[in-house]
Amino acid sequence: MRAVVFYEHGDLDRITVADLPLPEIGPDEVLLSVKAAALNRLDLWVLAGWPALKLQLPHILGSDGAGVVAQVGSQVMGFQAGDRVAVNPTYSCGQCDFCGSGRDHMCDRFAIFGEHLPGFYADYIKLPARNLLPLPDHVSFAEAAAASLVFVTAWHSLIIAGGLRAGEDVLIVGAGGGVNTAAIQIARLAGARTIYVVGSNAAKLAQARELGADVTIDRTQEDWSRAVFKATNRQGVDIVVDNVGAATYHLSLRALKKGGRLLTVGNTSGPKFEFDNRLMFGKHLRIIGSTMGPQSDYERVMGLIFQGKLHPIIDAAYPLAEAPAALHRLRHGDVAGKLILEVDR
Ligand code: ZN
Repeated sequence: MRAVVFYEHGDLDRITVADLPLPEIGPDEVLLSVKAAALNRLDLWVLAGWPALKLQLPHILGSDGAGVVAQVGSQVMGFQAGDRVAVNPTYSCGQCDFCGSGRDHMCDRFAIFGEHLPGFYADYIKLPARNLLPLPDHVSFAEAAAASLVFVTAWHSLIIAGGLRAGEDVLIVGAGGGVNTAAIQIARLAGARTIYVVGSNAAKLAQARELGADVTIDRTQEDWSRAVFKATNRQGVDIVVDNVGAATYHLSLRALKKGGRLLTVGNTSGPKFEFDNRLMFGKHLRIIGSTMGPQSDYERVMGLIFQGKLHPIIDAAYPLAEAPAALHRLRHGDVAGKLILEVDR
């Protein structure tokens, strides 16, 4: 089968399309014929590598995908060859205490397809059947792939970990990016009062307003932390979604109301930074981190997508063989929404 892989960590020039043997499935697994996959910044970090990341090489990239079941293991119930499915990108063992208590995103053997395990940029992938969700006919494979990682992540962060309630004010730092565009929609659906979005690009800010943002702030024009503080009568907001990190954290903490929560699922501008701890205790703040979400959240948020209440944003689609060009665009281009690989094209 064709697979987009790298044989050693490094830059984009390490990416190649290889011919690999079909994966062999276990009793509780299915073989999925991948129809669409979606790119994530995670792909670039995995390609670059980090000391603790030990991969079996060549490594197949891709954390998001959807397709058709090609083969089922002997113990798989509820799915059969030919079924259209979406896939929760989080691997869990199904056996540890975390899995037993519905917190499979905290599994002792937690992994993400495409990060620690072979990913979706291939004709086929093997997956535990418990990761699958039946995909209704009216939802495309591209939409399912585009939605999976970012919507389960944003849903779990805002609704479950962050406890967003109707009537609260929310600030989202960053207007583009999959998690942020998901977070805007989820905050709207959950009944947030005023949604503020900070960005640097007029087109992305316009898109943020279309998705449900009430107030957009161009950070190249004004001090956004001060602008939010002013707009809230010097009270600040209840929740800040900050997945930027080093460049924005201190401003995000400043923009929070007393008792506010800063939610984080990542750090695109770098993971290590300083902040003024007096803000933390003086304003009774909480920082709430999470990564991905359990299968129950995945089913909940994908159900809302299937009902048309939440919408994955797709920027462009490429054939599988053009994965290197798509990854290049993800790194260097101005992307508004998800980039898709159409695997059977
Ligand atoms: Zn487990």
